Amino acid sequence: MSNPFLHTSALPYQLPPFEQITPEDFLPAFKSGFEEHLMEIDAITANSDAPDFENTIAAMERAGQTLARTANVFFTFTAADATEQIQAIQQEAGPQLAEHEDSIYLNKALFQRVSGVSTDGLDAESARLVSEYRRSFIRAGARLDDEGQAKMRKLNARLSVLGTEYAQKLLKDTNESALLVTDAADLDGLSDDDVAAAAAAAAEAGQEGYLLSLVLPTSQPALASLTNRETRRRLLEASLNRGFRNNGENTLGLAAEMAALRAERAELLGFANHAEFATDNQTAPSLEAIHAMLGKLAAPAVRNAQAEAELLREAAARDGVEDLQAWDWSYYSEQVRREKFSVDRAALRPYFELERVLKDGIFYAANRLYGVTFTERTDLAGYHPDVRVWEVTNEDGSGLGLFLGDYYTRDTKAGGAWMNSLVHQSSLLGTASVVINNLNIAKPAAGEPTLLSFDEVVTAFHEFGHALHGLFSDVTYPQFSGTAVPRDFVEYPSQVNEMWMLWPEVVANFAKHYATGEPLPQDAVDRIEAASTWGEGFGTTEYLGATLLDLAWHELATGETVQDPEAFEAEALERAGVALALVPPRYRSGYFKHIFAGGYAAAYYAYIWSEVLDADTVEWFRENGGLTRENGDRFRRELLSRGNSIDPLQAFRNFRGRDAAIEPLLHRRGLA
Ligand SMILES: [Zn+2]
Repeated sequence: MSNPFLHTSALPYQLPPFEQITPEDFLPAFKSGFEEHLMEIDAITANSDAPDFENTIAAMERAGQTLARTANVFFTFTAADATEQIQAIQQEAGPQLAEHEDSIYLNKALFQRVSGVSTDGLDAESARLVSEYRRSFIRAGARLDDEGQAKMRKLNARLSVLGTEYAQKLLKDTNESALLVTDAADLDGLSDDDVAAAAAAAAEAGQEGYLLSLVLPTSQPALASLTNRETRRRLLEASLNRGFRNNGENTLGLAAEMAALRAERAELLGFANHAEFATDNQTAPSLEAIHAMLGKLAAPAVRNAQAEAELLREAAARDGVEDLQAWDWSYYSEQVRREKFSVDRAALRPYFELERVLKDGIFYAANRLYGVTFTERTDLAGYHPDVRVWEVTNEDGSGLGLFLGDYYTRDTKAGGAWMNSLVHQSSLLGTASVVINNLNIAKPAAGEPTLLSFDEVVTAFHEFGHALHGLFSDVTYPQFSGTAVPRDFVEYPSQVNEMWMLWPEVVANFAKHYATGEPLPQDAVDRIEAASTWGEGFGTTEYLGATLLDLAWHELATGETVQDPEAFEAEALERAGVALALVPPRYRSGYFKHIFAGGYAAAYYAYIWSEVLDADTVEWFRENGGLTRENGDRFRRELLSRGNSIDPLQAFRNFRGRDAAIEPLLHRRGLA
């Protein structure tokens, strides 16, 4: 049998032929992919004609397809189904990929040709592609001398090894740090379904009792309902110590080494630190502008968190708890939400059954806005039995792409939730989008429905916003496809999509009791809306904690090594004014996967930066009649279809009619 990666897939939309793919295919496919790509690049540099757009830039866009096919599938596995075999392959393939990338971007002859391409007479997207390529080459080190380039290659290779190691140690330690509870009484407050799921998880791990798996980020869902303080304490501490204190793994040492190497790389490229380098190609005008914004938010956020803490102390005191601790926060926050706002989030779960959330909520909203429909293709296989595949079609029946949903948690899956692409849309290559959403919902015991928490429903809508950004992509070049926008812009469309969850027509359509079919009463939705700023003090503070920690790690100058990462972390939070014992950062350095194994280094600020655009867009939808085809089509045409083919902030202006205003964000988070 030939290697399935060596040919374009014959399946609809070029869905990879997962039934034929085995882990043994990856390393040979990478090898062939590297060779093919290098031959294509050699052909470009060997061309005796003067460089022009077609023979250099477009040729580069067409090159490397075997490698792209292999890598897109491989990184789907490393995130969503990283078996030991996949992890071993990653240790080998990771440095090879880093080296290959360097051999393209540090290729002097190639850079010379790219620099020689004239943009005269090119259409706007093509001209933009030329300048993006130039910038990428320069950022990769194309202008360095031989010694500098050799150093660059070494740094990239080592960083690739460390990133893989961080992710693998974190996954291992997360699984090993799951909290084992032997007495069911200690789980009081959890629903019967949750207790059954914990029992099933223990049985699967060969342990007696109940196992509470850890999820990302810091706060754990069970903390909101566990009545036993000691269980809460143990659960939060297991979460906070993840990566470095629980089982002899040490991700902190890796984090410190990565930060030091990134600083060195930035210096090599002429930047003061990695944060300056990382934000140089973002929509934020400067690192100072980012600090200015975060600085403005920190004090009011902390003030709001302290005001929230006062109410929590009152509630806790009624239980005889006099020393409110971080592990009590979620529990009493829910209690206040119930008492003060009459919102019981735990009681909502029976109304959030996965199948209905998807079909009658997420897909329904997309249909009302964009006219697209979703048809499950049980004839098409995903990369794991839990993965489901839907074909997405436009209103006129034309095919748009495939959407894969992988909703359940498993030991081989990284924590958190994300979207990624298996095939990128490009009219140059004649490809449509194939995108995936991953969540980490606990699998119910056999025969039981999958009931989601409020936050999980928000997350499902969020990730689907990324999926739409991929699916609606209508660009020429694969480089600009879908979500290939700056990090501090990419969270914008996904955050906008969250708004439809509680939109009256949408929530009425999907939030129905799984057993009785009874709809969630409108007044319950109204109360949720009324309580929407409750907890935002905590939420904003923990978010800022993680963001400022990320920046602290990446504002280190070359030579500033961190000997004691825990002390460094504490100091960074203190200096930023967000060190609250009751509100630990959303991620600690030991399990900050976004920045140490996920491409968000010095970019975690992106969430709140894009939320400015998001909140202002939500205003626009409200002002213009909400859930209508006209509104959806405008958002799709001006924004979701554009990818990075035009300046993203220009796309925003074309959609909104002006630059974004920050007030809607401040209002939403109670910071006005
Ligand atoms: Zn996102």
